[in-house]
Amino acid sequence: MTFDIRNKVVLITGAASGIGAATARLAAERGAHVIATDLDGARMQGVAADCHCIGLTHDVTSQDDWDNAIAAAVHHYGRLDALVSNAGIVHYERIIDLDMARFRRLNQVHVEGSFIGLQKAVAQMRAQAGGKPATGSIVLTASVMANCAAPAISAYAAAKAAMANMARAVGVEVGRKGDMIRVNAVCPGPTRTPLLEGVMPAGAMNDPAHRADVPLGVPQEPEDIAESILFLISEESSFMTATQMVVDGGWSLT
Ligand code: NAD
Repeated sequence: MTFDIRNKVVLITGAASGIGAATARLAAERGAHVIATDLDGARMQGVAADCHCIGLTHDVTSQDDWDNAIAAAVHHYGRLDALVSNAGIVHYERIIDLDMARFRRLNQVHVEGSFIGLQKAVAQMRAQAGGKPATGSIVLTASVMANCAAPAISAYAAAKAAMANMARAVGVEVGRKGDMIRVNAVCPGPTRTPLLEGVMPAGAMNDPAHRADVPLGVPQEPEDIAESILFLISEESSFMTATQMVVDGGWSLT
């Protein structure tokens, strides 16, 4: 089964790699109009060419870059139907080692970046509705770390908890007064991407010990998360808002 996202205009951040790239590729394959953006503009251009979508350089901590990305959606397709705020970084360091500059950058990328994206996307969705009830779907890629814990991940866990609860708070705010803008967080467990592989020993995802920790018994791939994001964008999830959707094969409950 696939979810119907044909002709939806979807902006995806952090789309040059991992979960964002998988989401851009699947969304484009299934007929969405995708604007894929990343801080790494050169890598983004390569992925965008493969996915047959528009690729842009975009630092999610920059208001101007957000304006340009949303303007590109409107310029090419006349509107914005969905935002996937997915860009991310990780610092895997114990609390006494993590300096404030890295703590602040983590929060800037995840919390500030998603906050600016929410502001700009909601404003665009309302403006394009021309006085009628606005519609749209916004998905923030949070993490299971929003609600569980591990050593050396405190700053990331704090940022992801902020993102996940921001999705709920904005979801209940913008669903009022007749608008049908939905806001949800997806909370992935450990997923085989460059971000995770950068902090795990080589081959650890395939280690029997890791596999044994995942009740479904196989490592999670970026496409597993992408499918959940596409569901949240689609009309099949039309009554879902302000949720935190955990997608981890049961990992966080073991
Ligand atoms: P990834 O490293 O493969 O991709 C992240 C992308 O974000 C990169 O292309 C990077 O260039 C981009 N990026 C970083 N800073 C940016 C900025 N300031 N502006 C724009 N783009 C920026 O990682 P991924 O695993 O695909 O991560 C995607 C999201 O999923 C992140 O928010 C991450 O925290 C979250 N997540 C990942 C996992 C996992 O196990 N991989 C688990 C839970 C949540």
